[in-house]
Amino acid sequence: MSYAHRIEGDRPIKLSEFDSTEDAGLRHEEAIQRTDRIVAELAELQELMSASRQRSLLVILQGRDTSGKDGTIRHVAGALNSQSCSVASFKQPTEEEMAHDFLWRIHAETPAKGQIKIFNRSQYEDVLVVRVHDLVPKHVWRERYDQINAFERLLTDSDTTVLKFYLHISKQEQKRRLLERERNPMKSWKLSAGDWKDRELWDEYTAAYEDVLNRCSTASAPWFIVPADKKWFRNLAIAEILLESLKPFRQGWIDRVEEIGRRERIAIEEYKRSRENS
Ligand code: ADP
Repeated sequence: MSYAHRIEGDRPIKLSEFDSTEDAGLRHEEAIQRTDRIVAELAELQELMSASRQRSLLVILQGRDTSGKDGTIRHVAGALNSQSCSVASFKQPTEEEMAHDFLWRIHAETPAKGQIKIFNRSQYEDVLVVRVHDLVPKHVWRERYDQINAFERLLTDSDTTVLKFYLHISKQEQKRRLLERERNPMKSWKLSAGDWKDRELWDEYTAAYEDVLNRCSTASAPWFIVPADKKWFRNLAIAEILLESLKPFRQGWIDRVEEIGRRERIAIEEYKRSRENS
């Protein structure tokens, strides 16, 4: 059972249909224990994935300001081995990045075989902030949905699992979090007047997100809407999808790792024999 909503693309969705406060009737403590168990299993799978080097995993996190992209990374990715899991954050493009096509900087960060990569923001900013703030003409961003779909198809055809999460918070919850940041000195580094300004464009962002979810959720690179008003539920929902998506590969990875072990044992035996004879 999944706690987040997979967008199947069979009918157009509206964000207002999804309840951001959903928690599947779970209690806080129960959800945290479940998440811990899932993340521990995920870490074991990560080791196998890394050792077998057959596939990679790309996790895309998108959401409005304060929706919990950083928190998800801390709680879910934080428990994974940093030798084969890393984060790429996409901010306003640099001059060099602007001099290339919009996918140039994205492609450079995609995970190698055996690796997990988490995108904190992504190629989707180029049809979100760029569209809402009119940073390029409409005829340019309009083409990008198809370009993104083709790009992601290339990744999935090249043995990358691509999972995309929209962290769904309500307008009230965003206000609460923005005010909390202002009160909490430990969170001052996150303060930005731009967040309040973007909040005024809430409906424009809603329309832009709905287009992303309706146009770019594919069978091989699906979008999930994650109820994110409750941080502990958000973490559980994402961790669970990551685990379920990787589990089917477990046996294949075990077989591959055993095969590598067998080959190396033969090579070691041959080496030892050659030393005995010399
Ligand atoms: P965050 O808000 O994710 O913690 P920042 O405060 O550094 O991190 O924000 C990054 C900013 O970069 C966001 O406002 C985001 O919209 C912007 N950004 C990301 N990608 C692009 C892009 N392609 N074009 C314009 N702005 C972008």
